[in-house]
Amino acid sequence: MKKILILGGGLSGLAAGIRALELGYIPTIIEKNEYAGGLCTSYVRNGSINDLCIHYLLGIGNEPMKEIYKHFGCLNNASIIKLPYLFRFYYFDKTITVSRDLNQFKNELLSYAEIEDIKEVKRFIKYIKNMEYFPMIAKKSTEIMTRFEYILTGMSYLKHMPSYSKISRVSIEEYANRFKSDILKSFILSFMPKSFSIVYLIGLIAKFVTGNADILNISSKDFSYNVLDKYLSLGGKILYNEEVLKLEYNDNKISKVITKNNSFTDFDFVINAIPLNYFYNNILDEKYRTDLVYKEINDLDNNKILSSFIVFFEVKKEYSHQIPHYFILNNKNNIDVAGNINPSIGFRSYDYIHNSDNTITISAIVDQDYKNYSFWEELKYKSTYEQYKNDKAKELILMLEERFSFLHGLIEISDIITPLSFNKWGNVLYGGYLSNLSTKTSTRGIFEVKSSYVSNLYHAGQMVYMIGGIVGALINGKFAVEVIDYHNKKSR
Ligand SMILES: Cc1cc2nc3c(=O)[nH]c(=O)nc-3n(C[C@H](O)[C@H](O)[C@H](O)COP(=O)(O)OP(=O)(O)OC[C@H]3O[C@@H](n4cnc5c(N)ncnc54)[C@H](O)[C@@H]3O)c2cc1C
Repeated sequence: MKKILILGGGLSGLAAGIRALELGYIPTIIEKNEYAGGLCTSYVRNGSINDLCIHYLLGIGNEPMKEIYKHFGCLNNASIIKLPYLFRFYYFDKTITVSRDLNQFKNELLSYAEIEDIKEVKRFIKYIKNMEYFPMIAKKSTEIMTRFEYILTGMSYLKHMPSYSKISRVSIEEYANRFKSDILKSFILSFMPKSFSIVYLIGLIAKFVTGNADILNISSKDFSYNVLDKYLSLGGKILYNEEVLKLEYNDNKISKVITKNNSFTDFDFVINAIPLNYFYNNILDEKYRTDLVYKEINDLDNNKILSSFIVFFEVKKEYSHQIPHYFILNNKNNIDVAGNINPSIGFRSYDYIHNSDNTITISAIVDQDYKNYSFWEELKYKSTYEQYKNDKAKELILMLEERFSFLHGLIEISDIITPLSFNKWGNVLYGGYLSNLSTKTSTRGIFEVKSSYVSNLYHAGQMVYMIGGIVGALINGKFAVEVIDYHNKKSR
């Protein structure tokens, strides 16, 4: 039986491990941390569970993706929570609720529309409808499809193309400017950074209305531990505290993987499930880099990363029913975090996760770009670091109290996370837990699973698969092994 060494024990590495066992390979995962799950995690601080990942699980309804979630054990001991609405946007004394019923949503938008906006609101809804059931390639990697399967896959996108081609090259900022009404403009600007393609907002709403963007009643750590449990139950092996530092090569093959404490030589194939941008910049030898990938992952103005400054708050559980599960507040006080003044700030209330101390956690998620990273790096070594983080957290508390006056004086800070934390935990460059995101000038090509220059190296991980996130991580872990299996069988 052939052996696969998997670098990185995040969701993608774990999914690769499971698929390897199913296809008759012997996998070993080596992971730098002392826990698995990578970015899909949560932790306990003073009795409250601070969740770092799942805001929406794409494809959780009835797409092929639900099968993938089931296959990897993600849904064990969990049930799907059908969210009452995607999010609620507060703008001074007005609100917009992104409801599942598109007519209701349309009427709400129309109620705020100026005469000139009416056509644009209708077009917005039309784009959403056209993006419903936008297919995800989950069954087979395009790299090993037959010509016929490839053409069929291409054809399944045809009916979505009218909308996709009109919106994918439009930034959120440009799209917002199509509206005259201030609240409609601000609503469009509210969900993601303004340079991202509007396709993200339209695509997410389309997923939500079709039941394909909901959550589970478990924490992100329990979600990834479900996948770990499945891997271990099939006989998989994972070694912790093994940070990969360097590779050695022989005849265009990886011959040795060197970690901080060990070295590994007993493998036939290597799957890289370490974040692609870190692996390319720090581990893979320069001469084995594919130019396209190297250029694109480092072109951070056109292919964005998303990081966050996150504050976890605790409030008494009795208030949970008065706080929306996801809400966005207009940043009318112009809170500046690390040089970024976001037009609005998102908050998540975790009323479905049970803290042991009769509280619920609310998180504030303030978007950060790679440009903010040096601010945090410089601040880290100054005595004012803790003070700065706390001051920002207090500004966010004021924002919450202004909106929900019943919370006045009752909000406690549980913990504060900066982009530096994401980098430390996961080796994601600039703390970008989502990377290679599309802008209107995005140059994103297709990253191949099989390395062009190193014959036993294959890539998994969210950054390799277009959609990214948990979906990208799981699918691409699966694909990496299936592509190995394809080439392995062919070479026999
Ligand atoms: C705040 C936040 C919110 C998010 N929200 C969502 C959401 O709502 N929906 C969604 O789908 N996704 C979301 N994500 C993204 C999701 O968590 C990731 O896309 C997914 O977990 C990535 O999995 P991965 O296995 O590809 O990578 P990772 O989780 O990054 O796993 C890589 C693994 O490699 C390890 N590693 C790194 N360097 C080395 C090394 N040198 N040697 C050995 N091991 C190494 C890391 O420790 C890690 O375990 C969110 C992430 C965050 C942080």
